[in-house]
Amino acid sequence: MYGNWGKFLRVNLSTGEVKVEEYDEELAKKWLGSRGLAIYFLLKEMDPKVDPLSPENKLIITPGPLSGTSAPTGGRYNVVTKGPQTGFITMANSGGYFGAELKFAGWDGIIVEGKADHPVYIYIKDDNVEIRDASHLWGKVVSETEETLKKEIGSKRLHIASIGPAGENLVKFAAIVNDGHRAAARAGVGAVMGSKNLKAIAVEGTKRVPIADKQKFMLVIREKINKLKNDPVAGGGLPNYGTAVLVNIINQNGLYPTRNFQTGVFELAEEHSGEAMTAKYLIRNQPCYACPIGCGRVNKLPTVGVTEGPEYESIWALGADLGINDLASIIEANHLCDEYGLDTISTGGTLAAAMELYEKGYLKQEDLGEEAPPFRWGNTEVLLYYIEKIAYRKGIGDKLAEGSYRFAEMYGHPEFSMSVKKLELPAYDPRGAEGHGLGYATNNRGGCHIKNYMISPEILGYPYKMDPHDISDDKIKMLLIFQDLSAVIDAAGLCLFTTFGLGADDFRDMLNAALGWDFSTEDYLKIGERIWNAERIFNLKAGLVPERDDTLPKRFLEEPMPEGPNKGHTVRLKEMLPRYYKLRGWTEDGRVTPEKAKELGIEEFL
Ligand code: SF4
Repeated sequence: MYGNWGKFLRVNLSTGEVKVEEYDEELAKKWLGSRGLAIYFLLKEMDPKVDPLSPENKLIITPGPLSGTSAPTGGRYNVVTKGPQTGFITMANSGGYFGAELKFAGWDGIIVEGKADHPVYIYIKDDNVEIRDASHLWGKVVSETEETLKKEIGSKRLHIASIGPAGENLVKFAAIVNDGHRAAARAGVGAVMGSKNLKAIAVEGTKRVPIADKQKFMLVIREKINKLKNDPVAGGGLPNYGTAVLVNIINQNGLYPTRNFQTGVFELAEEHSGEAMTAKYLIRNQPCYACPIGCGRVNKLPTVGVTEGPEYESIWALGADLGINDLASIIEANHLCDEYGLDTISTGGTLAAAMELYEKGYLKQEDLGEEAPPFRWGNTEVLLYYIEKIAYRKGIGDKLAEGSYRFAEMYGHPEFSMSVKKLELPAYDPRGAEGHGLGYATNNRGGCHIKNYMISPEILGYPYKMDPHDISDDKIKMLLIFQDLSAVIDAAGLCLFTTFGLGADDFRDMLNAALGWDFSTEDYLKIGERIWNAERIFNLKAGLVPERDDTLPKRFLEEPMPEGPNKGHTVRLKEMLPRYYKLRGWTEDGRVTPEKAKELGIEEFL
């Protein structure tokens, strides 16, 4: 087998048993790898109804067949598990070097089962795998954990993925952080790791990923890297200004969510844009493994010193969503989230919901404590104070640690949570991109942009420009392609930003050359559709009710955008959703049909 090794590591933390799970190429041809194989294992082995924080939940950490190769952005890995924030499937994805190193060690992934009776970490050096005591690491922030392990193990190759105090304290939106500042963050994968008493995974490897046709692969790779370098976003905007290049673009297009999505225009956005960050704080770019784009930012600040990030979503979540504009405070807050192991989008979204509750009088100062900074729009003191409270579940932080939906519900107003399936939304107001709104509503992991980035066609013009307020079948068909193609890119182990510059045929070329297959673009998109449908089946079995869960916060459906280019618009979800189900080949009420399952070869899971 090429690309994949055909081997997962199975680690049972309850029994201390470490086993090798082998699979054959037929299975790889069906699921490709990473996110694909992970949903296969979960559906095969786990009851989707299990409590996400119980030992019965499985945590699958997996790079893809192109991770660890020289394919552009070939360093990513996915964490697939049942998310405690949503109660549904989640597949959080991260860059850096950890994913590639896991491949160098000879593994396509790790299936973590059970729960250790004391804190442990997993150490992997090629075929040697040990479960080691981590009592001395418990309570440490991410940088301390990484430093301690690097010193103890004493290897330059070592790459580490760990949780901070937030994961230990089962914060519903805790992240797993690798290489200091790269995070698999969404829906609480860090809390699942914490619930298993697993502090970290440290890995070093010496193997080379097997490639079917090395010469052809190198030619194909060179061509794709050139395409990326010549693209204005992948080769210009992203390397020059990082993902924060989007701040001005999204704000000018009137969908930059401000003060908990009350409007889509932030009057001060320019001051915390990518351009401003580059001018004031940037010291260098930080690419992930094998990445010719290099969107990562390394900044220097008197308060925290040298730190990586923030990227677009974090700048917005810890900034405009709270009415905050001070870039230094945002960078510092982002640094703290990385150290404690918190999802920045959900942290900001939860604080934003608290601010709206406070400003409207439903959350009182006495609920926060006399000394606590008031939740006023634009109050920078809120950032550092409450981020720490959340990570340690101290005071009101214990309630905030449950996420915006549960928090707003406690105060009688869940409608102030800007979330889908209880997962906080990212930095695009769907009233300014209605296809993107349909993507939020139908995303398997909840309110997320990454798995259906319709901002590409609706705002940025990739692969071509579509009217953001068009809701025709053509728009919905484009969303299906984006959802299925994103599943392929994740399963391959690549970064979504490659879609600036590369199309579906380019991914086909790279995969075929590496894996030695002769698949068509349609074959790969079929794998993506299989993954999407398998995840939907998992969610339906976990208790998803389409009419309740495939929706958007009331604000987007009933409150027209008050100003800017999208003034007067809501999202016409009711008109799009039945057509989405139909185009997916599902029942009228959003269920995967036996015919569709059979067509995709997943009827055994229905
Ligand atoms: S584009 Fe950015 S996030 Fe993606 S692999 Fe490259 S540096 Fe990492």
